[in-house]
Amino acid sequence: MTAAPKIQGWCPGALRPMQSGDGLLLRAKTLQPRLSAHQAREIAGIARDCGNGLVDLSQRAQLQLRGIGEARLEEAQRRLFALGLLAKDAATESVLNFLVSPFAGERASALVERLAQALSNDAVLQALPGKFGFLVDDGGALGLVASAMDIRLEGQDEKIAVIADGAREYAFLAEPDAAADIALALARAFLVLRKGREFELRRMRGVVAAFGLDALAKAARLNPQPYRSSCHAAPAAEIFGVRPLPGPPSPAAGEGAYAGVGASSGRLRADELAELAKLAELHGLGELRLTPWRALLLPCPTGEAAQRIVDAAARRGLIVDSNDPRLAVIACPGAPECPQAHAPTRALAERLAPFAARLASNGAKLHISGCAKGCACPAAAKVALTATPRGFDLVEDGRASDAPALRGLGASEIEDALDARIARASTKQEPPCPAHSCPAH
Ligand code: SF4
Repeated sequence: MTAAPKIQGWCPGALRPMQSGDGLLLRAKTLQPRLSAHQAREIAGIARDCGNGLVDLSQRAQLQLRGIGEARLEEAQRRLFALGLLAKDAATESVLNFLVSPFAGERASALVERLAQALSNDAVLQALPGKFGFLVDDGGALGLVASAMDIRLEGQDEKIAVIADGAREYAFLAEPDAAADIALALARAFLVLRKGREFELRRMRGVVAAFGLDALAKAARLNPQPYRSSCHAAPAAEIFGVRPLPGPPSPAAGEGAYAGVGASSGRLRADELAELAKLAELHGLGELRLTPWRALLLPCPTGEAAQRIVDAAARRGLIVDSNDPRLAVIACPGAPECPQAHAPTRALAERLAPFAARLASNGAKLHISGCAKGCACPAAAKVALTATPRGFDLVEDGRASDAPALRGLGASEIEDALDARIARASTKQEPPCPAHSCPAH
């Protein structure tokens, strides 16, 4: 019998990196989606000098540096501190978890700053679990509807809707000045309600399921109102290649455009990140925007400038087209990088990408997981391949941990099974995938 995957319950930081199969995994924690070209180049330098040169774009829009050696950890931390990307201590770092829509403006920045300040200075709030986080969606075109964090703050005209995950049909509506306090009141109520059941109730969704929204609202002294979000999910067609900058023209960017560049399963090499930083300085506005879609967006003054970046990124083999087959498959790091993995996953992802692109699906197409934990795609995929000690198990329309339809497959047998799945779907005329509705895309 295969051992159950281990639940870590926390995310790596820079002050508390996570031991992985290829060394320490260190997250350069950013609070805002904007990264200057200088910061991006320096992070690439840290990845190259202190780690194995690999950088992952996480589903929480963070950069993770792989293979950091114990002997180089202090240097990596010192260099991140110089970039303003190191929290004051590990307890603070652990609770500073933010996901912000990539082109959110000053109102969202101010909210994040206010929340970060409270979280940094309040010992009670520092008891929040390591995966607990806040999502800020400004309500603009590239929205975060498909992403989940424990507390959401959504721009709704002049107000902010504060929402507990697990009860998204209700909100606490607030003026922008009061929204951070409401979010913090919900976080404190979460801590009160889960007392004595800390291991079991690590996320807001679990507390809402266990006690109900009314109990949470009562503990926070708030009144929820029925709510229907008007925020958007960013489709792939609006992320990759040359796109107009969302929002009204600005003095810095004029009409503006951006170059959307992705990496297969979110994996960049340090030299690729350094190149993107250089391109942002040469042709763009000197910055990169982090996203949870395993892509970086580089704002530019014009569409022509964005096209120059896209052309250079394509020559490097990066993803610049929403029809790129590599976007149809998502793989976790796998072996040897993750100690829990039963097999490598990334090479198989490259091999199976053309098959994945032909799978009809309304959500994630092909998910390749090194074990049943399914870190790379918590949602159901059209096909999930889960590594076991005896080969890959194949799950249809499900998660990596669901019961498989086929067991113990090798790469050629998987190709045959996918071919059969595609043929079956075409005779049934399943609807085509409408463009990346799953966060795994
Ligand atoms: S799903 Fe992948 S990354 Fe997550 S624990 Fe399993 S092997 Fe590791």
